[in-house]
Amino acid sequence: MSAQQTLVLIKPDGIVKSLTGNIITELSDTGIIIVGAKIVQVTRELAEEHYHHLREEKFFDELIKYIMGEFHVKRVLALVYHGENAVDKVRKVIGATNPEQSEPTSIRGKYGRITSKGVFENVVHASENKKEAEREIKLWFRPEELANTIYPTESKEVAKTEFFWKEK
Ligand code: UDP
Ligand code: MG
Repeated sequence: MSAQQTLVLIKPDGIVKSLTGNIITELSDTGIIIVGAKIVQVTRELAEEHYHHLREEKFFDELIKYIMGEFHVKRVLALVYHGENAVDKVRKVIGATNPEQSEPTSIRGKYGRITSKGVFENVVHASENKKEAEREIKLWFRPEELANTIYPTESKEVAKTEFFWKEK
């Protein structure tokens, strides 16, 4: 099988609980590598697009608030991993969606919880399959933000405003 890429998000509860280092260590142990990383303040638009397939679910509104950081902190760490079988390797390490049903040694099993409102605070997101991984990576990252991308790119001339540090 050829190399895959997959999107991982350390969700706001993972950030607040200072789990970033642990999670990155556990993912590194599988032999896959990071090709993109950035802190993101998740807008409603990005949250709703990321979870668009869940919009009919009764937990959708709480999920959007959760990923936007309304219960913890307004930051997620977005990572793109690259390697053989990366999608399934990451899903195995993070564990099942419901933290109470996750292997107790998985990331979600160790650190996740279900709130009294029924929201699964499960610390981390990872793409479910190759197709979703491509959709999610393209939603969260621009090609030039990745050290290496497996998806074809094209260049276009665009007029744009850039920001610089203000001179004193
Ligand atoms: N979720 C929830 N309650 C549920 C199912 C899902 O709060 O009954 C949340 C949870 O944060 C989960 C996210 O919605 O990670 C996306 O759900 P999905 O079924 O895609 O699970 P995942 O792919 O994250 O394991
Ligand atoms: Mg999912």
